[in-house]
Amino acid sequence: MAVKVCKFGGTSMADGNVMSRVRNIIESDKDRKYVVVSAPGKRYSGDVKITDILYQCHREVEERGACGASFELIRNRFNSIVRELNIDFDINSVLDETERRINAEKDEDFTASRGEYLSARVMAEVLGAKFIDAEDVIFFDKNGAYAAAKSDKAINDALRGAEKAVFPGFYGRGYNGKVKTFSRGGSDISGAIVARAVNATVYENWTDVSGFLACDPRIVDSPRRIKALSYKELRELSYMGANVLHSESIFPVRKANIPIHIKNTFRPEDEGTLIQPSVYYTPSGSIVTGIAGKKDFTVIFIEKSLMNYQIGFVRKVLSVLEKYNVPVEHIPSGIDTMSVVIESSALKDGKLELILQGIKEAVAPDVLRVNEDIALIATVGHGMSSSVGTSARLFKAMAEASVNVRMIDQGSSELNIIVGVKNEDCEKCIRAIYREFFGN
Ligand code: ASP
Repeated sequence: MAVKVCKFGGTSMADGNVMSRVRNIIESDKDRKYVVVSAPGKRYSGDVKITDILYQCHREVEERGACGASFELIRNRFNSIVRELNIDFDINSVLDETERRINAEKDEDFTASRGEYLSARVMAEVLGAKFIDAEDVIFFDKNGAYAAAKSDKAINDALRGAEKAVFPGFYGRGYNGKVKTFSRGGSDISGAIVARAVNATVYENWTDVSGFLACDPRIVDSPRRIKALSYKELRELSYMGANVLHSESIFPVRKANIPIHIKNTFRPEDEGTLIQPSVYYTPSGSIVTGIAGKKDFTVIFIEKSLMNYQIGFVRKVLSVLEKYNVPVEHIPSGIDTMSVVIESSALKDGKLELILQGIKEAVAPDVLRVNEDIALIATVGHGMSSSVGTSARLFKAMAEASVNVRMIDQGSSELNIIVGVKNEDCEKCIRAIYREFFGN
């Protein structure tokens, strides 16, 4: 029997009318049994997400002892949702209790999690489904990572006998027993956790777009839609900023080989994008699957004669970065050279200078140079490794667009080619690569 876990994002929960669409979607397929919801998102551009108002509530509690003014906005929003849905549900007692606990607990994660809690309570009512509080079934271990085995068991225990169930996304219970949230956008992770726990046939992720595009539509006009891609391709593209899905949400389902289907709540008939585990993945035949870019990296370039003979050279450089707690994104290297690519935001407050000094002391390089304002552009696709001349086409396209290549890194998986260019060349470069591989 097929079991589908459906996660609905903030725009799918934005108001009562969209929530009615969600009900229709769920009721149109009996396999859609378990539902994970986000907090209500924006109804129109310029609107404020419920989660953002909740963070504001927390600030108000800290400053004034209670969150009266901002909580009024939450209250109004949920009252109008219930009115639009025309359901008989005493939302005000739930809101009263929520406001009381926000003021009493004075805890940021608890407060931020209430948007999901409230929308799941409403959705469970709409569907006549069991409400399962994430606090009781999703657990974190002492390192702050989600505790898979314990959560899987609790989810299955809670689901016993339930025909349909609704879970709030975004939070669980921390090791200290208190509510703990994932990072922003984390309801995607909750959906993946539930999908894995029930060994779902598919994890449907309902958003407000009809799937992934081969590149950012703000850069290229109507880019091609990606019908299917592998988990690995998704990981590369979302790490680089193609953010339809939270980049950590793939891990729980990937382990269990569960496909993710991105669908559009506002156009349910659209095919969407299917993200498949590598074991089932059949390449589409196109060489490149997608192109994504991310700005604001810093490249530290190090040159030292006979670097390759010096045992421990790379380790010494990396230990300087470790000392300052700075994550490294890429390490392209040559015989006598290596570069370390770091997100510029991690080097603020004088850290860059400290690191350069540390590297000088650790390895006495012949040359130590820094390139700031670098954008990385990843061209991703399983098809690239098997087709001759891909990189030649890519670099020719860049040359023809007069984009200077500052750095090259081909991932060891041969799944991607990453080029570093000046921030200001980022869009031009993406357009040139897109044109080369997708035409127009
Ligand atoms: N509501 C949370 C946020 O705005 C989590 C989510 O929507 O996935 O980040």
